[in-house]
Amino acid sequence: MTTFPYDGRFTVHRRLPEHGTPRPEVLEALRTMAVEEDATWESGKCSGTMYCGDHEHYRFMNEAFGLFAHVNVLQRDMCPSATKFESEIIAMSLDLLHAEAVTSGEPVGLVATGGTGSICHAMLAYREYAAAERGVRRPNVIKPETGHPAFDKACHLFGIELRVAPVDPVTTLVDTDWVDRHIDGDTVAIIGSACNYGYGTVDPIDRMSEIALRHGVGLHVDGCLGGFILPFGQELGYDVPVFDYRLPGVTSISADTHKYGYAFKGTSVLTFRDKAIRNAQYFFLSGWSGGKYCSPGMEGSRSGGLIAATWAAMVQLGREGYRQYARAIFETAATMQRSVLSHPELRILGSPTFLFSFTSDEFDIYHVNDFMRERGWRFNGQQYPNALHMAVTRPQTQDGVAAAFDGDLTDAVAYARAHAGDAPRSGAIYGGVAGGLTDEADEFIKMVMGEMMDAQQAIPADA
Ligand SMILES: *Cc1c(COP(=O)(O)O)cnc(C)c1O
Repeated sequence: MTTFPYDGRFTVHRRLPEHGTPRPEVLEALRTMAVEEDATWESGKCSGTMYCGDHEHYRFMNEAFGLFAHVNVLQRDMCPSATKFESEIIAMSLDLLHAEAVTSGEPVGLVATGGTGSICHAMLAYREYAAAERGVRRPNVIKPETGHPAFDKACHLFGIELRVAPVDPVTTLVDTDWVDRHIDGDTVAIIGSACNYGYGTVDPIDRMSEIALRHGVGLHVDGCLGGFILPFGQELGYDVPVFDYRLPGVTSISADTHKYGYAFKGTSVLTFRDKAIRNAQYFFLSGWSGGKYCSPGMEGSRSGGLIAATWAAMVQLGREGYRQYARAIFETAATMQRSVLSHPELRILGSPTFLFSFTSDEFDIYHVNDFMRERGWRFNGQQYPNALHMAVTRPQTQDGVAAAFDGDLTDAVAYARAHAGDAPRSGAIYGGVAGGLTDEADEFIKMVMGEMMDAQQAIPADA
């Protein structure tokens, strides 16, 4: 067990203190921790996570957040602004995803608390819609192996059978014939990613759209990661296939405002081609003694701050702002990919976009990770095959970061060649928490979870 965070530096609270602490003292402690922790990504050496990384933008959003932080958006009679913000976030997202192309159906959406929330609401909506419309009682959905674990989680929670379609090892794209063959009368939706988290590649959504239409099932496009950046990549002329409502079989798209929408963590937009699918997951309890209850999604009370800050980010940046950021990100990603390809020992998986993943057929790529970590880099580690991924975000677009990547990677490849016979120190864990991954992977993951979730048990005894 590691030591308790900040033990010895700040007061450790085992009990709710009898006497309050003065506000300046509380804020000073928070400020110290925040400033130190921000230094871990401000260098631009951290993959993903800090999509914006611009403190001025954060200050602006904090101001917007602060004005509505205390408001409960469940009580709409008291905050008509929440209805304005939420519906405009949805409308602007639908606009970006080309909902104008929808000729049958009424495009709508809902704002969830994150990508997982959007995906859970989508899966619940398909389950409920298919139950009502087609009498499906044992629903299944099909996701590509590269589809996000949030789909597995949603299926686990909602009692949906998940069928996992294989992907092509070279292109990393889903085997659409497999998907086609495995749809049956209980399939409520199929899933494609634009783009997937692992490789930054976009599944053949056009082909999936035809398949979905032919079978009369839903097609959810997971644009959690790409939804707010790929449309601008398209506009800028990058090779990004169409994945949105311009394809007639696409029935819902998730897009995370809390990633490349540059909003705070805690919002994501789930859009639907037609209202009927979204409405299928509304929850009502009209006979409760506490009053008639209804909520649009899984959450009960929600803070108005997040909706206000997300709305503020979108309105303040506008298409111009998003396009400008996308240009810098796509350019930096291309430069970094050129660095990778300059080493014959390294190989990029598939045809990626702003996020790329690389491996080696000559040594374990985790040797490269081990070395790069010493130089301050933090990649996301993958498996089958072992690979490292870099989701390029705004911090990497700072001057000198791509050049540092180039230089450090050259040294890392030399290190990996020299250590090819040894076992690397790091391994594959989503989100970058990496350590000696053994065959007892589940046990190891439970231990990592334990260190995080049971830290309260490790709070040092009172002085
Ligand atoms: C981030 C992500 C999600 C959802 O993740 P959250 O952490 O819940 O926001 C889903 N799909 C993809 C492709 C993602 O990158």
